[in-house]
Amino acid sequence: MLLRHTPKGIIEREALVINPAKTCQPIGAMYAALGIKNCLPHSHGSQGCCAYHRSMLTRHFKEPVMAATSAFTEGSSVFGGQANLIEAIGNIFTVYDPDVIAVHTTCLSETIGDDVNQISAKAHESGKVPAGKHVIFTNTPSYVGSHVTGFSNMLKKTVELVSEATAEKKNKTVNIIPGFVEPSDMQEIKRLTSLMGIKTIMFPDTSGVLNGPMTGKFKMYPNGGTSIEDIKKMGDSQLTVALGTFASGAAAKSLDTKCKVPCEILELPIGIQATDRFIDTLRIKTGMNVPEEITNERGQLLDVMSDMHQYTYGRRVALAGDPDQLVSLTEFLVSLDMIPVYVITGTPGKKFPAKIEAITKGLNEKIYAKNPSDLFLLHQLIKNEKVDLMIGNTHLKYIARDEDIPYIRYGFPIIDRVGHQYFPSVGYKGGLRLLEKILEAIMNRIDRDAPEESFELVM
Ligand code: SF4
Repeated sequence: MLLRHTPKGIIEREALVINPAKTCQPIGAMYAALGIKNCLPHSHGSQGCCAYHRSMLTRHFKEPVMAATSAFTEGSSVFGGQANLIEAIGNIFTVYDPDVIAVHTTCLSETIGDDVNQISAKAHESGKVPAGKHVIFTNTPSYVGSHVTGFSNMLKKTVELVSEATAEKKNKTVNIIPGFVEPSDMQEIKRLTSLMGIKTIMFPDTSGVLNGPMTGKFKMYPNGGTSIEDIKKMGDSQLTVALGTFASGAAAKSLDTKCKVPCEILELPIGIQATDRFIDTLRIKTGMNVPEEITNERGQLLDVMSDMHQYTYGRRVALAGDPDQLVSLTEFLVSLDMIPVYVITGTPGKKFPAKIEAITKGLNEKIYAKNPSDLFLLHQLIKNEKVDLMIGNTHLKYIARDEDIPYIRYGFPIIDRVGHQYFPSVGYKGGLRLLEKILEAIMNRIDRDAPEESFELVM
């Protein structure tokens, strides 16, 4: 009973977060930067911040995460970190030889007011950036937003700094901005587009970087990531498909503004309807056909959905996590005739409650969708009215244990299990895996609680 002090009575809170449903902005910025080929993320702040960001990513992906820091001391905390960052840029190119350094700020450097734009220009002027190398940077003050905001900020700033429209006529390439998803999801999205015969540039792309094989050799920059040349070429593509409004929308819009690449901003392709919209958008916009392999995968998902409907029908579910995932997950659960009663995220954004409301409006049940909110409130809601299933990151395990509720780990961070790096949850195949996990959790509980006379061999 680790959370035994959570009271049932809910009091409106404005200036206090308890047990947050988010992590800090730079973690998202660092994750986005790891999806760039030969890139070393750099945290402009104290060593402690950088150690925390790296450790969260390392624990989630079970891979070493390389990043540098400006290593603020008391002096830089008072007078600013310009000297530290300029020196760091020179040292990093000399010692670690990346193609790109992706600088993000932290609470401390933002509070001092360090101008990374100006510092980067100064680093160029003072010859710290070798020819052909790049420094990109973004602002990620963690007292606003969440890791999703940081991810979005890094993508937006990168396309603004790097992408270029070089030709009058756009080529047939489609840019895919995959959202704050797992490397396995990025791999799955690439598999689907390649099955359709569509040439794509995916940015960022952490597949191969954070789910690479064990080779016995350490590689500072694993094979994988979007090259800076490809990010540049994104300005010449015919279309950008951004998956997830919160994580990918801003970068897609910036690319449209800067390079006149039109964009389609879709929800993450989690579940049957969102995947249908993704595949259909690609089909309509590129004129390519949907191959039988994809149609079969869709049919398999549909088959299991209808075969196992008796186990999903009417089950009440509590969800917590990132907004893009929650919107698509909610839609998927509704298509399974489940009832997503509580939907909580720590990431701000005005559109979130309205999106959940639109998806759940036909349900005969009061749906509680709130942002920014926290896991303390989620626990209180569950205490007041129980659910049959919980879906969310590792932090939900305490509530699941205290309230004895079946629980599926999903989202970021998952630091006590593996699998998310390797098995996708996007696309029809991903939907099937997600459904399998849902059924496993529900049916295990039915087995556990069944009286002896109705403990069934066949279910
Ligand atoms: S001080 Fe700010 S940037 Fe650093 S770890 Fe804490 S929340 Fe993140």
